[in-house]
Amino acid sequence: MQEIVGECLARRLLEWGVDTIFGLPGDGINGLMEGFRRHQERLRFVLVHHEEAAAFMATGYAKATGRLGVCAATSGPGAIHLLNGLYDAKLDHVPVLAITGMQETSVLGSNYQQEVHTTHLYQDVAAYNLMVTNPQQMPGVLDIAIRNALTKRTVAHLTFPNDLQVAAVTQDPYRHVSPGEPPKSSPVVSLPAVPAAQPDLQRAAEVLNAGSKVAMLVGIGARGARAEVLAVAEALGSPIVKTLPGKMVVPDDHPLTTGGLGLLGTRPSEELMEECDTLLMVGTSYPYAKYLPSPGQARVVQIDVDPSLMGMRLPVDAAVTADARLALQQLLPLLQTRTDRSFLGKYQRERDTWLADMARLRDPERHPIAPQYLMGCVDEAAADDAILTCDSGTIATWSARHWTIRGGREYYLSGNLATMAPGLPYAIAIQHAHPGRQVIAFVGDGGFAMLMAEFLTAVRHELPIKVIINNNNSYGQILWEQIILGYPEYAVRHRQPEADFGAWARACGAFGAKVTDPKALPDAIRQALAHPGPALVDCDVNPNEPPMPGKVHYEQAKHFTEAFLRGQPKKMATLASVARDKINELRP
Ligand code: FAD
Repeated sequence: MQEIVGECLARRLLEWGVDTIFGLPGDGINGLMEGFRRHQERLRFVLVHHEEAAAFMATGYAKATGRLGVCAATSGPGAIHLLNGLYDAKLDHVPVLAITGMQETSVLGSNYQQEVHTTHLYQDVAAYNLMVTNPQQMPGVLDIAIRNALTKRTVAHLTFPNDLQVAAVTQDPYRHVSPGEPPKSSPVVSLPAVPAAQPDLQRAAEVLNAGSKVAMLVGIGARGARAEVLAVAEALGSPIVKTLPGKMVVPDDHPLTTGGLGLLGTRPSEELMEECDTLLMVGTSYPYAKYLPSPGQARVVQIDVDPSLMGMRLPVDAAVTADARLALQQLLPLLQTRTDRSFLGKYQRERDTWLADMARLRDPERHPIAPQYLMGCVDEAAADDAILTCDSGTIATWSARHWTIRGGREYYLSGNLATMAPGLPYAIAIQHAHPGRQVIAFVGDGGFAMLMAEFLTAVRHELPIKVIINNNNSYGQILWEQIILGYPEYAVRHRQPEADFGAWARACGAFGAKVTDPKALPDAIRQALAHPGPALVDCDVNPNEPPMPGKVHYEQAKHFTEAFLRGQPKKMATLASVARDKINELRP
C-alpha cells in the first residue's frame, strides 16, 4: 500500500519523538486521521470535546515536558477554536505544532462551506504558517515547521487540503524541498543550551560585585537552574524574588526567597525591589515594570536565551545572552562572596512576618469557607512531587500564596495570555505525560464551566487527575477589579441556583463531592487525592474574599473606599471579609 500524506505526517512526527496528539476529528481532516490511525500503536490520539482544550493540552504538555506539543483540528470552526490555546503557547514561549484541515483545492476560492483561510487567520500566532499543496513538499515542510516551533519556542501551523491528505507521497525529482534525514535525537527538546560569552560575563560580574544591595528576579527560563540560582544568591547575599510562572524555580520554603512580585506577590518582595541598588534578572520577561526598580535606581544584569527580549522592561547595564544554567555556572567563579548580609537579613525577617500573616488567613473556622483555607488544605495533603495547574482569576492569587513549592512540586498557569479555562486541559495533558504523578487542577467555577466537558475526557482516558473547584459562583477577579477601579460591581455574580459540580462528576462516573462546611473539607480533599481514578471536589468558598495585593497603594485604597461608599450591593459581607484581611491598610 502506498504511503499517503496523512500517513507520512504521522510517521515523521514519530521520528521527531512525538507520541501524543490532542485533537478532534472532522470531515476536514479525515485523510489525516486515517494516517494517524495507521500508526495508532505508537501515536496516541487524545480525543477531546472542544478544540480549544486540545490546544491548551498541547501547550500544557509542552510546558511540563519541554517537548513539542501537537494538536489537530478540522477545517473552519475546528481551526478557529484552536486559536486561544495557540496564543497561550505563543505568549508563554513554548513549542506547539497545530495541524488543521482545508477544503479541497478544487473548490478553494468559491466561497465553499467551511472555507476559512486558516493561513490568514493564523498569521499573527504562527511563526511558520503554510498550506501544503503538493505531496512532494512532505515531509520536508513538516521538518521546517517543527524546527521553527522548537528553535523559536512558539507556534507553527500546517494546513492540509482534503484531497492532498490522501494523495500518495512521491519523491520530487528535483528535491527542492529536501526530505532530509530523520532527526537524530528523539525526543527532541526545544533548544540546545547556549553558553555565555566571556566579555558579557565579565561585565555582569563587575556590575554585581559593585552593588551593595543586590536582588535577584528569576523567571520560568531559570527552571532548570535551581542549584545555580541558589549558589549565586548565596554568594551575592541576595534575596530571590520569583515571577509567578517562575514559582517552581526555587522552593517556597527556602530561606533565600521572599516569594513572588506584583499584585499576587508578597510585601517583602515589593519593598526590596524599591530598595535594591542592583538587580540580576534571570530567565524572565516580567511584564509589570512598576514593580521593578525605578529608572536610575538600580543597575541591571539580565540573563536570557533570547536577545530580542533583552532590556524589554528596564534598561540593562550588562546583558548575557545564554542558557540560564550555563551562564550562572560560568558567572559564579567571577563573583566576590559578600560578607555583609544585612540586606538579605532584613527581608528574611520581613518574609517570616509575611508568612505568618498568610498562615492566619488559612483559618478553618471561617464560614463560608475561606479560599485560602481551601488552597491550604490541598497544599497540606498533596504529594511532595504533585503538579498543580491553575486558571486565571482569584485562584491564581490563592495558589500563588498558599501552594507551596517544595521537593519536586510543579506549578503551571497561562502566564502571559492570562486566559480562563486552561487548568483542566493542562492537567489532562500533564497526566498523560507523567502517568505516575499526582496532578491537581485548581480552578474556579467560571473557568471550569467553560470547558467542563473535558472532565469526561479524563474519565474516558482513565486519568486519575484531581480537580478542585474554588466555587464563588461569580467572576471573582473581575468583581475586585471593578471595585478597585472605583465602579460598583456589575454583572459578575451568577444567579442561583449554584451549580453542583460534585454531582456532575459522579454522573460522569468519577469521584465527586460538594463541600460547604469547612469541617468537612480536609476529609473531602484527602478522599479525592487518595481516590485511584479521576476525582473532583466542588467547594463553596466565600465570594466576598478579596485577593489583596501584597502592599496596598493609596489609589487602590481610595477607589475601593469610594466604590464602597457609592453602594456595593454586598457591602456588609465584603466589609467583613476585608476587615478580616487588611482593613487597616485600606484607610487612605
Ligand atoms: P516568561 O514571560 O515566559 O519569560 C521567560 C523568559 O525566560 C523569556 O524571556 C525567555 O526567553 C527566557 N528563557 C527561556 N528559557 C531560558 C533558558 N533556558 N535560559 C535563559 N532564559 C530562558 N506574574 C507575576 O510575576 N506576578 C503577578 O502578580 C502576576 N499576576 C498574574 C495574575 C494572573 C491572573 C495571571 C493569569 C498571571 C499573572 N502573572 C503574574 C503572570 C504574568 O502575566 C507573566 O506571565 C509572568 O510574570 C512572566 O513570567 P516569566 O518572566 O517567568 O515568564
